[in-house]
Amino acid sequence: MIIVPEREIADLMTREAAFDAVEKVFAAMAAGDAYNFPVVREAIGHEDALYGFKGGFDKAGLTLGLKAGGYWPNNLEKRDIINHQSTVFLFDPDTGKAKAMVGGNLLTALRTAAASSVSIKHLARKDAKVIGMVGAGHQATFQLRAALEQRQFEKVIGWNYHPEMLPNIEKVAKEAGVAFEAVELDGMTQADVIISITSSFNATLMADHVGAGCHVACMGTDTKGKQEVEAALLQKATVFTDEVAQSISIGEAQHAVGEGLITEGDVHQIGAVINGTHPGRTSDEEITLFDGTGVGLQDLAVAASVVELAVEQGRAIEVDF
Ligand code: NAD
Repeated sequence: MIIVPEREIADLMTREAAFDAVEKVFAAMAAGDAYNFPVVREAIGHEDALYGFKGGFDKAGLTLGLKAGGYWPNNLEKRDIINHQSTVFLFDPDTGKAKAMVGGNLLTALRTAAASSVSIKHLARKDAKVIGMVGAGHQATFQLRAALEQRQFEKVIGWNYHPEMLPNIEKVAKEAGVAFEAVELDGMTQADVIISITSSFNATLMADHVGAGCHVACMGTDTKGKQEVEAALLQKATVFTDEVAQSISIGEAQHAVGEGLITEGDVHQIGAVINGTHPGRTSDEEITLFDGTGVGLQDLAVAASVVELAVEQGRAIEVDF
């Protein structure tokens, strides 16, 4: 069995490799070649932790496995380690033997950023110039860094519930040589692309905050009850997602479907756009929205890619298991 520890991931994995792995697996999901298993997520009654598994099988890429982990809210304060903790396990689909164990913390951020980037590549207007960020936490920096590679953005605008965190994304914009401006939420109407990545349980981005022709990537809502955008925005937009079943149960679409504003049939797989079986954006005025709920197959895809790189570069630890 191969082990790739968390400390090795930063040197091995690139944004490009994460993007390719995620784009391929979204395509495989829409083609029916890959499927996710139902998600398990439990409050374990210890350290206020949420723990669970996300798994799946990609018949096209021959990737089988799961990501185990979750959120330990006291980690940072008590133990000086990050609150999100996860590990990916890969199995040989021919035999069931354990194949690899891979640190999943940085990979989670990279694969989540890759998902919104894939949505920007396939759904945002080609002439997008202004990108808006709602959120400025740990994931937001990865999201912005990856998104800036998708279009010739000239300006980043940002809003955050905790304004003191905005320098986190301002730094990323500056490093990329792009101007940054903090705005109120109604200033988001000037954005051609908006990424929202917060842990909010109430809509902050309203339908009126989004201008015609915008592409919105909603990346924070991955649990029942969470919500980042007004349900009416999904009614106004053409809605895409990684996985329809997750979108309507734990994603942003749970609210719009629950309120009867849209139906499950209004939510389309992003993979269908990648494969060319859905036209995607059809006009410059259309609002497109990607509900990125985060699927196990994304984790497996980037973990498989990192194992390959680790073996190639002689950095994999092999154990007899
Ligand atoms: P973080 O704790 O570093 O940042 C949290 C962000 O949410 C900050 O911008 C904070 O200001 C904002 N926020 C907190 N309370 C808010 C409120 N009441 N209203 C509006 N904004 C609020 O967390 P993170 O690691 O950046 O994760 C952000 C979210 O992304 C989490 O909800 C996490 O579960 C989710 N996530 C989703 C995926 C996916 O695949 N879709 C993957 C990883 C994380």
